[in-house]
Amino acid sequence: MAHDYDVAIVGGGFAGVYMLHRLRELGLSARVFEAGSGIGGTWFWNRYPGARCDIESLEYSYQFSDELQQQWHWTERYATQPEILRYVNHVADRFELWDGIQLNTRVQAATYRDEDNGWLVETSSGGVSARFCVMATGCLSSTNLPDFKGLDSFAGDWHHTGAWPHEGVDFTGKKVGVVGTGSSAIQSIPIIAEQAEQLYVFQRTPNFSVPAHNGPLDPEKEEMVKGDYQHFRDEARKLVFGAHFRNRDELADEATPEELQREYDERWAYGGLPFLGAFGDLLYSRDANATAADYIRDKIHHAVEDSETAELLSPDSIVGCKRLCVDTNYYETYNRPNVTLVNVCDNAIAEILPAGLATTDGQTYELDAIVFATGFDAMTGALHKVDIRGKSGLSLKEKWADGPRTYLGLATADFPNLFIVTGPGSPSVLSNMLPSIEQHVVWISDCIDYMSKNHLQAIEPTVQAEDEWVSHVNEVAGETLYPSCNSWYLGANVPGKPRVFMPYLGFPPYVAKCDEVAAKGYEGFAFAN
Ligand code: NAP
Repeated sequence: MAHDYDVAIVGGGFAGVYMLHRLRELGLSARVFEAGSGIGGTWFWNRYPGARCDIESLEYSYQFSDELQQQWHWTERYATQPEILRYVNHVADRFELWDGIQLNTRVQAATYRDEDNGWLVETSSGGVSARFCVMATGCLSSTNLPDFKGLDSFAGDWHHTGAWPHEGVDFTGKKVGVVGTGSSAIQSIPIIAEQAEQLYVFQRTPNFSVPAHNGPLDPEKEEMVKGDYQHFRDEARKLVFGAHFRNRDELADEATPEELQREYDERWAYGGLPFLGAFGDLLYSRDANATAADYIRDKIHHAVEDSETAELLSPDSIVGCKRLCVDTNYYETYNRPNVTLVNVCDNAIAEILPAGLATTDGQTYELDAIVFATGFDAMTGALHKVDIRGKSGLSLKEKWADGPRTYLGLATADFPNLFIVTGPGSPSVLSNMLPSIEQHVVWISDCIDYMSKNHLQAIEPTVQAEDEWVSHVNEVAGETLYPSCNSWYLGANVPGKPRVFMPYLGFPPYVAKCDEVAAKGYEGFAFAN
């Protein structure tokens, strides 16, 4: 039976947009279904004040077209959300992709049909059939809004950072509460503080943050990178996070106090996530990590005038175990007279009241607006929003009831011809997302092309390959400090979510494995003719 499309692509973020382009280049028909009224995925929804990328612009960008990367000019070292959104729209214009993208269309269900080895994709505006279904739904796109009692009764406005109103929000003269102190909060708090009459930050757990030292993009750096962009990309491909974090092999456990100080000072002055590359054992040895934690705590105490507030802002945890934050004036913001840090670790938020919120110790806070910077149902949340059914009607949710199971984060047994871009079990959020997305898009489209040329109807991983990969992902994570804290990498931020470490650490070995699997005729996958 003929299908409407070779490939149905769910999601119009950076993954869906490039997937469409790449499939068209191979002469295949594809259509992107996007719930939003525009493309860009996470960069379409996360419009909160101060939203910007924590990976440098020169490498948080597509590399599939040298002309594109040469001609596009980023204005800042770390691009703002509006600039990233302009960029992805430019890509869609430049490669004439719009006629393949269906906006305002939410995919509700995707069902595998044994009879024609294809997928029936049901959307808010009707159903389509396709040989393949590619889930390009993103890792951080399903917002997590805790079930706060009384939220419906709140008389003011409330917003989640991950679903921010397009028209923006004016906090001028308002009493504002921000719930959460992760990356989204840490970026937005300094800006909201400048507008609000009074800002209360409700902190359950403090996070480590490193200054971004953002500014206009250095023209010399731009010229140097653009002089040999391929080399710059090739270098990044060999690095553990797929980005230039200037990783060193030297061990903090073996460094003298002077060496530690010198290296951390240099990294702090440089700014951003490369702080984690200071020593090779920071994510492996508690003692090594403690040297970095002590350093940042000391910085917090220097930045924050009130010692009690500084102490409350100082994490007693492992640097990088929860994603390290990157900020502009975050800690300094607590020196403003209109900013108050509220500890909701001991006294949790009990309920939202019509005029504010109350904590369990009976304290009430009068608020005109609340910002929930409470994160995401990461990696699996967006997949589970679609009722995905594989062979014999098996639902993905049922199959993954104890945590996600994939082979290479790309596919899962019993769901033939279904691919996931940057799925659980792939480097995804532990890597620079853009190169990870491109690597997956190329791998998936090459696989589809291989199947077409070899008249193969269906592909799915073997259960054995999947089991071995899941064990391997856990084993690699188990050697690090990552599983030791309640992070969203583990699903620990969403009540009832199974605790499984979801991303794979190590971009270079992962890429090598994917290449090897393809070179061996898609080893670990089974085909049906
Ligand atoms: P997040 O890191 O998951 O932080 C959520 C915050 O909400 C945490 O502080 C959490 O406290 C708090 N929270 C959740 N439920 C709560 C409750 N019931 N009461 C009080 N506090 C509660 O989410 P995020 O800040 O949106 O960041 C998620 C990820 O998105 C980041 O790690 C990063 O990968 C990405 N991101 C990147 C950028 C960037 O590129 N610059 C910017 C924003 C986000 P607990 O820690 O106690 O759970």
